[in-house]
This record gives sequence, structure tokens and C-alpha cells, in this order.
Amino acid sequence: MPTPAKAKKAASKAAKKKTKGFNFDIGYDAESLKTSILNHLRFSLARDVKGATTRDWWLATCYAVKDRILDRYMKTQAKHNNENTRRVYYLSLEYLMGRLMENNLVSAGVYDVTREALEELGQDFDDIINEEVDMGLGNGGLGRLAACFLDSLATLEYPAIGYGIHYEFGLFRQEFVNGHQVEHPDNWLQKGTPWQINRPEYQVEVPIYGHVEYHFNSKGDWYPLWVNTQSIIGMPWDIPIVGYGANTVNFLRLWESRASNEFDLEAFNRGGYTEAVRDKAVSETISKVLYPNDKSESGKELRLVQQYFFVACSLHDIIRRYKNLNEGWGDFPSKVAVQLNDTHPAIAVPELMRILVDEEEMDWDDAWAICRNVFGYTNHTLLPEALEKWSVPLFQKVLPRHLQIIFEINRRFLEDEVEAHWPGDNSKKSALSIIEEGHPKMVRMAYLAVVASNSINGVAALHTELLKKNLFHDFDELYPGRFNNKTNGITPRRFLKVCNPALSELIAEKVGEDWPTNLDKLTGLAKFADDKAFQKRFMQIKRDNKVRLAATIEVLCGVTVNPDALFDVQIKRLHEYKRQHLLLLHILARYREILHNPDKPIVPRVIIFGAKAAPGYDLAKNIILAINKIGKTINEDPRVGDKLKVVFLPNYRVSLAEQIVPAADLSEQISTAGKEASGTGNMKLSLNGALTIGTLDGANVEIKEEVGDENIFIFGMTVDEVEKLRSSGYNPWDFYNENPELKAIVDWMASDTFTPGEPFALEPVRRSLLDGGDPFFVLADYAAYAEAQKKVDECFLDQERWARMAILNSAHMGKFSSDRTIHEYARDIWKLESLPVEK
Ligand SMILES: *Cc1c(COP(=O)(O)O)cnc(C)c1O
Repeated sequence: MPTPAKAKKAASKAAKKKTKGFNFDIGYDAESLKTSILNHLRFSLARDVKGATTRDWWLATCYAVKDRILDRYMKTQAKHNNENTRRVYYLSLEYLMGRLMENNLVSAGVYDVTREALEELGQDFDDIINEEVDMGLGNGGLGRLAACFLDSLATLEYPAIGYGIHYEFGLFRQEFVNGHQVEHPDNWLQKGTPWQINRPEYQVEVPIYGHVEYHFNSKGDWYPLWVNTQSIIGMPWDIPIVGYGANTVNFLRLWESRASNEFDLEAFNRGGYTEAVRDKAVSETISKVLYPNDKSESGKELRLVQQYFFVACSLHDIIRRYKNLNEGWGDFPSKVAVQLNDTHPAIAVPELMRILVDEEEMDWDDAWAICRNVFGYTNHTLLPEALEKWSVPLFQKVLPRHLQIIFEINRRFLEDEVEAHWPGDNSKKSALSIIEEGHPKMVRMAYLAVVASNSINGVAALHTELLKKNLFHDFDELYPGRFNNKTNGITPRRFLKVCNPALSELIAEKVGEDWPTNLDKLTGLAKFADDKAFQKRFMQIKRDNKVRLAATIEVLCGVTVNPDALFDVQIKRLHEYKRQHLLLLHILARYREILHNPDKPIVPRVIIFGAKAAPGYDLAKNIILAINKIGKTINEDPRVGDKLKVVFLPNYRVSLAEQIVPAADLSEQISTAGKEASGTGNMKLSLNGALTIGTLDGANVEIKEEVGDENIFIFGMTVDEVEKLRSSGYNPWDFYNENPELKAIVDWMASDTFTPGEPFALEPVRRSLLDGGDPFFVLADYAAYAEAQKKVDECFLDQERWARMAILNSAHMGKFSSDRTIHEYARDIWKLESLPVEK
């Protein structure tokens, strides 16, 4: 009798033989697409053409395209497995993917034929595209970076898998009611989501809570046993990631939490049906919702559980895949590179140690050597409120064994490494300890990530320098060479080719079709910067994009704007350090100028905001209210007319960014120097021909280097000047009292002019700038900002000069392709080779 395993193998061999040479019948012409779409309409959706809604057509089209993508996905995974290739595993708690359909069509090379097929079927392509809701499983820049990286990894044919959480609700939907932000749940799965593939065969079970007991291991040594744990099931959902113009299709694996069967059964056996259901509810809460805080941590238990859950599931999956193809652990570091996107997945460090030491019974030193060869850590911020710390008692409750392991990592780190470098220096030990003393003690996750990683990188040159100078100064001395810079980038596919098709065609005409994968080719535009005919075409495309955005503004805000005005754009999360209120002060100054000098010509502007505030961040919400109230007053004031309009587009997200970015003239990048680690919105806007007004912060510094000083409006204090002013005792009242215009507008802002009947409604914003100490130096930078805005107006009056500057911005953005960034990660950190997949 054959064993069941042998029988299974034989059956699968027979099946393989019988299907050899089978033609999967997926054509890439419009006719085949048409057939596929109609087939899916009928056999996947049970719909007749007659009754089909736009949603049905959208789903059927996505399924038809997915068939073609999955064919390449199968080939890619077969190739990666057959070659037993080294892979990078990108661990991120957030992926801000946006819509997938249009990008997938473009990347898979079926955009034109799908359009044609739909036209032949009498369907409106744009309506169908607009059926898709954003996949918004992230807050802002960090999550969008992860999405751009996945795009570049697949395009450059690097073997890579992304891991994250399959949140049932992504980032909240934002609405304004009387100018106030109101949050609604983002039910992105409601309409169905055609791109994800459920993988129940790869579900995993992970333990949590419980306590640690001591036993003897097989070698007779004392060893700890993590017992009485609860278990959670992780159910994988895969999103294919299509390489642009390549045959590689990688995937993003997102874990949904489910109650474990064992758990349910126990409760049933105790006779507690409702108990079982309640326990189920707890387990399934884990992947319920994305935390909506960008750059701040509140230390909530559920957040820690989320982090551990997705990391444990992912490591389990990585190890299963490794063990399928390899014997022993010797090759693990040569097959696996794990990148930690911020410290959110840093629990991977003690989890991998636990697996190796407790489950695999490996010596600590060997296990630690593996860890240190596998992990890389990317830091995204220096803001103290954003540095993750978990209280020791909470850690003890949720992950008691992991806490012990962290203590042991720390003991060895302090006693061996710190002691060797700074003998007898106890202050160094307490400064560098992974455990912060206090009540309660805290686990410093950034230090844990640094100690365990072979590479620690910042996300722009300035940011990396500041990391080495401040937060990680001693670590840089202890681990020379481990700190490195990887300036962020953006995918030129989504943020130029797809969102700005007219400009893309013009670029292709001048520099060739291959610019989306060779963005440095854009320098070929520079020689047309003074060419009047080219300037005209470039600016006509900008104007057409502005007309389209104006229509969106009309729909979303009910405000009519003039497409010939300067479109002045600030789109990013709402945060004090990003200083949306600095732009608000400038708006007030313009308004005042219009009222005081009604006959003086002024450059007409439309100021466009897009920003979500974290639901618990009161001042950010007050800034939104202030912008909305002041904007409304200005927009309704007949003395102003087209000279100034202020609109706040609700529910800023990736798909809205894709409409705003191609239509922007001016890009506001006005953070306090030293606070914005990189920024990527700055890159998207400049790539599409917007000029930057900005501080010397984050990647603005490198954008300035690329486009040249004369093609960017830089203003304000440098990092050193901010530091100097801070240490000499900054008093915002001085700036307020010395600048009559500034005093007038700050007081005006908080008067009841803009909130009739609610005289103190905007007082919190004023208070933050004065009694609140103005922690982000808004008033100190105000005069320089006003001066820079004056230069912007002057330049805009000379349309040829403006066109030249805009063209040179696009021309010099090649560096900021995320392809360049990913090549650098692959070369310097992951030691990863690309592995092209044949057709
Ligand atoms: C690019 C992007 C961001 C990041 O913008 P910054 O200006 O770099 O902060 C945030 N949200 C969305 C939706 C984006 O597309």
C-alpha cells in the first residue's frame, strides 16, 4: 500500500502528465479581452449583459485582467522556487496602495486593448475606473512609500514579498460638516475587491498572552516554556504586484485575524456558546481597523497585538518557505533579507530569536548571528512623539517570553558591546539601554531595531545626517558603517505615466518611450526649456489638467475656480510640523492686501488643501476648521472675486492626489527644518512640473540640488538656525510684536470675523502660536515665507519664465524614481540580484 503522501504525489504527477501542453487560452488582443470580460460577467458574477451595472463591468474587467496577471504570477513564483532564490521580505504595518485597476492595466501592457474591448462593449472606460475605491491601508507617506517600493521591486524583477495586515477598515473617510472634520469608517471591501486571492492553505496559528514556565529541554538544560497561550489564526490574502513592462508578478500577503478552531471548541465544551462567540470577536478584532495616527503612538494594547500578529504570521510563512527548499539553518541568512519599515514590525527580532532558541533549540549566539544577518531597519522620523516605546508591564502581559528575550538581548548588548567600547561608563549604559528606566519601564523599539540590524537607514541625506548626529549618535560610533542613507522615491508609473497621460505622451515624444523605467532620461527635456513651442505645449497640458481639477473642485467643494489662476497646493497629512497654518497666515495676508488695495493687480491664486487629521489630534482639527472657515469667508466675499479662492478638498487619498498633482503650479513643502524626514509629495509635484516653495528640510534639499537654486523657492531657517533659536530661548511674542502685518493677521484670524456667533472658535490656533510657544517656529519663519511668496508672484507674471522653470523641474526629477531607491537598497542592504522571468 502506498502511503497517503506517496499517493498524493503520484496523483499530482498524473495530473501534470494529463494536462501537459494544455493551452490556457489567454490572449492579449482586444477580442480575447472582450471574450474574457463577457465570460466573467456570466460565470463569475452570474450577470446578463442586459442587467449588468457599472460595478459588474468593473469586476468582470478586473477578473479578465487578473487571469492574465495570474498567469505571470504562477511563472514568477515557479521561477523563484525552482532557483531557490534569495528574496527580500518587506514588513510594513501600512500599505497605501490607492486604486489598482488602471496601474495593473498599464503595468501588464493591456491598457489599450482593455479600453478598446470595453468601448466595443459599449462601456465608458472612465466610469469603470471610477468604480474602484482606494485600498487605503495606510496613513500617509510611510504607507505610500511601501506601495511605491512594491511597484519598483516587481518592475526591476527583484524576488520580493510584502507582508502586512488585511485591515477590514482602512484609513477613515473624511467629511466636513460646518468646516469640522467628521470621520466615517472606510468599508473598502464592501463592493468586493477583485484583486485579492485567499490562501487558506497557508493560514497559520500564532500564540499570544499566557505565561512562561521553566522545564528541561532534550539536552537536559533548563529552558523556558511559553504556556497557557491563546491562539489566533492568520488568514492570508494575496494582492498580485505587477512589474511594469516585465514578466515578474510578486505579491503582497496581508493577514486577516480569525479565531482558532481549537479556541472555539474549548468554549463549546464548557457549554459556553456565547463565550465562544465573544472570544471569536476578540480574535477577529485584531485586523479590524488601521490606527489613524500618523507619527504618534499611544501605547494601546491592540496596536501591540496587531504588530506581533502580523510579524509572527509573516515569519512563520518565511520559515515555511525556507524549509521547503533548504536543510538546516545554515543558508537562512543567504536566502532571506527582512526589511523593517519603521519600528512597527521590530517585534520580529525577539520573535525570530524565540523560534530559533526555544523551538529550534539553537544556541543563543548562533541564533543572534542569524538575526543580525537578516534584518535591516528603516527609520522614518526624529519626532520624539513618534518613537515607539512599549511599557514593560504591557509587554509582560501580551508577550511575556518576548520580553524576557529583549531583556537578554539588552543584557548582552550592555555587558559585552557597550562595556567593551565605554568601559565602566554607566551613564552610557543607561543612555543606550533598550530598556528606559522609569515608572513604568519602557522598551525602546528603535534601539532594539538598531541593535539587531545589519543596516539602519534614514530616508533623505539630511535626515540620515541628523540621525547620526542626534538620536543614534552613540550607536553610530559603536557600529561604524551600519548607518546609511536611502533617499526616498516615488513610482513614475503611477505618479506620471498613469496620472498625467498627456504630459507622458509629450515626454515620450521627446525622450523616448522608455522613460518610465529610465527616469534619468527626463534630462532630455532640459534642452527644450527655452523652446517657445515646447513651453506652449507643456503649459497647455498643465492648463487642461487644471480645468479637470477645477471641475472636481466644483463637485467636491461647490466653489468655481479660474483655471488661469496660480494653483497653489498643500497636500499631506495635517500636522503642526508641516505647518499648514503658515500657509493659512499667508492666505490672510493676501486677503488683507486685496481689501486694502482693491485696485492693485495681484496674481490670482487658488489655494488647494488636502489633509486628514488624526481623530484625536485636536489642534490639527482646529487648523482644518480655521482653513475651512477663513476659506468660506474669502470665497463668498464679492470684493475678492477670482483674486483668491481657498478650497479644502475632502477625503485626501491616493486617487485624489493623482488628480491634484498634474494640475499644481506651486508645491508647498514648508515644514520646520529638521522635522520632515524626507517627504515624497514634494517629488510627485515637482515631477509633474510644479515649482516648490519650501524649507531646507528632508528631500527638499536634494530637489534643490537637482533642479538648481534658480528653479525653486527656498526660504526660512535652516536646521542649525532653528536649533540656535531654540537654545537661545525662542519667544514667538517678539516676532508678533515686531511685525505689524503678522500681528494684524494673527489677531484677525482668531476674531469672530470668520466664525460669526462663535467668537472663540479659532482661538486654539492663535494660542498655539503665542502662549503655546509656537513649537514649530511658524512666526519666526513668517517674514521669510512672505518674501518667498512675493518672488513666486513675480515669476508667475512672466509666464515664459515660469514655463521654463516648470520644465526644468520635470527634467531633473530622475533621481527620485523609487527604482533608483530600490536599486540602492538591493545593492547596499539586501545584496539582492534581480531575476528576470521569461515569458
Ligand atoms: C504621497 C502621499 C503622501 C505623502 O505626502 P508628504 O507630502 O510627503 O507628506 C501622503 N498621502 C498620500 C495620499 C500620498 O499620496
